[in-house]
Amino acid sequence: MEEEDPTPVPNAEARTSTGLPRTEGTLGLEEAKEAILKYEGVFELTSTQEVTAREKQFSNQEQKLRTRMSKVKHKIAVISGKGGVGKSTVTVNLAVALAMHGHADNIGVLDADIHGPSVPRMLGLTGHKLQVGPPGAFPASGMLGIKVVSMDFLLPDENAPVIWRGPLKMTAIRQFLSEIVWGDLDILLVDLPPGTGDEPLSIAQLLPEMDGVVIVTIPSKVSQGVVKKSITFARQVGMPIIGIIENMSSFICPHCGKKSDIFESGGGQKIAEELNIAFLGSIPIDQEICEDADKGKPFIVEHPNSAASKSFMEIVKKIEDFLKKRHDIERR
Ligand code: ADP
Repeated sequence: MEEEDPTPVPNAEARTSTGLPRTEGTLGLEEAKEAILKYEGVFELTSTQEVTAREKQFSNQEQKLRTRMSKVKHKIAVISGKGGVGKSTVTVNLAVALAMHGHADNIGVLDADIHGPSVPRMLGLTGHKLQVGPPGAFPASGMLGIKVVSMDFLLPDENAPVIWRGPLKMTAIRQFLSEIVWGDLDILLVDLPPGTGDEPLSIAQLLPEMDGVVIVTIPSKVSQGVVKKSITFARQVGMPIIGIIENMSSFICPHCGKKSDIFESGGGQKIAEELNIAFLGSIPIDQEICEDADKGKPFIVEHPNSAASKSFMEIVKKIEDFLKKRHDIERR
């Protein structure tokens, strides 16, 4: 008798035109990789029929991506020059703040950090697996109905690394946008890995209608230096810049109330002024931001009256103003 697979993968014969499986089940990393390799044409094309079939696949998927993304009113990418500055923390808390600010059940987060996905952990969705049904794969639903998709949902366990090159990552991101049943959303936040590599470039190419990018930095001079590269990158690929957020701006001791500028302070504002970009706000260092992220509990829900939560809510208002102005300009 055949051993029962604890995480059933869909039948390989029953694929959609793009490679992702058609039947119901749970999608795993190997399954996704196989589908992507097949789709990307890593196997040699031997006949003109095959070339034509592949071209048809591309155009089908492009069409699907456009259809799915046309239901998402706004798309915002969150980027940073360096890792560890709190980009995912900011993405998650902005998603929650937006959901609390009248967009419950209408916010999506695409964790496009293929090698270091951390959004699921921060939203308490670790261990979730992508469920596949006839229309495509379904995002996980987190707090306040936030829809989340992450590479993490395809990994066999949280220690498994993804060792993929550029084209494979671009195809994975394309499939996340076209094959996931995102449904109607007000805002899709895309959490990108630090720097200006394959993933940000893929997103810039796949979502030319991107409303804008939010850039996260810490105030240190080292971080300021690299964040300028992100700004130049966004300008070069034609993504509007919504503004800069300075994270880990200062630390207020919970015992004595003394303020310490651990990474200095004001660096984000300085860059914003220098490069003529909006400054969205500063988030202080708060031990509970870190503790809540580790527990999978969004900080802003747990500590709504903290200085950092208030700052997140102010930033959300500025982002909404930006989107509204952009929308008004487009309608003229
Ligand atoms: P990135 O996405 O830029 O790599 P993360 O969002 O993963 O960074 O944050 C790195 C670490 O710093 C995490 O442990 C997170 O909880 C913590 N962190 C982020 N912002 C703050 C903050 N303002 N105060 C305290 N800890 C923070």
